[in-house]
Amino acid sequence: MAPPAQESRGRNSRDRRETLTVPLIDSHCHLDAEYFGDEVDAVIDRAVAAGVVKMITVATGPENAKHAVALADRRPEIFVALGMHPHDARLWDDKAEAAFTELAAHPKVVAWGEIGLDYHYDHSPRDVQREIFAHQIRLARERGLPIVIHTREADDDTLAVLRAEADGPYRGVFHCFGGDARLAQGARELGFHLSVTGTISFKREMPVHGVLRGVGMENILVETDSPYLTPKPYRGKRNEPAYTVHVAEALANIFSVTFDDVAASTWQQTHALFNRLGPA
Ligand SMILES: [Zn+2]
Ligand SMILES: [Zn+2]
Repeated sequence: MAPPAQESRGRNSRDRRETLTVPLIDSHCHLDAEYFGDEVDAVIDRAVAAGVVKMITVATGPENAKHAVALADRRPEIFVALGMHPHDARLWDDKAEAAFTELAAHPKVVAWGEIGLDYHYDHSPRDVQREIFAHQIRLARERGLPIVIHTREADDDTLAVLRAEADGPYRGVFHCFGGDARLAQGARELGFHLSVTGTISFKREMPVHGVLRGVGMENILVETDSPYLTPKPYRGKRNEPAYTVHVAEALANIFSVTFDDVAASTWQQTHALFNRLGPA
């Protein structure tokens, strides 16, 4: 697959990047062995070549978390978020908690998540999802870690759990944001940033674009959610962190700003939020 740097692009193109000093960070991807196998180093190298010099790989279970931390140990570009995904909330037990909390002490673990509620698939009973979501919010807070929120078809309950567990403003992000103005406002009131994926590139104008403009660029991060949600022009292929470039381009178009503006803003915001990423 050709590196994205060789693709032709529009007016916010990274072709002007020869002079670019601000790199990109993919704030949410899944570099698990089951998706990328031994290609993972080539995938990371392609991202770096495209200007995506840091990646947060999100481990959704204890086994994946071990793999993610091992990857972060050997690749300086890789940081880790870990937590039980709402799909697997029913699998939470003392053993899982012990594994997650031990790994969370690793210096390259920058966040707890993704945690939250998914009522679209209902892979775990909803009451169990809510209980394990609340429990993990507390585990994150005890460790001073920001949280990464996954919510699907559960807007009201997600906000209700967060409000019930709040202890001042949160540090965290609603990842893969595709919600309406009400969810955006609820998230912002609780202190959260929003993060967008390639889904914002699917159409020229989408309802979520207006919601994002209302939220403001300074509160938005970019992510690929690789290997899912491949942006244009690669739809149908496996997603990978190098394509953060296309998410940033789409965001630049939504706000009518330059690619470099998006790169600078998202870089700075992501480092402020995930403070263990090191200096911005
Ligand atoms: Zn998610
Ligand atoms: Zn994810």
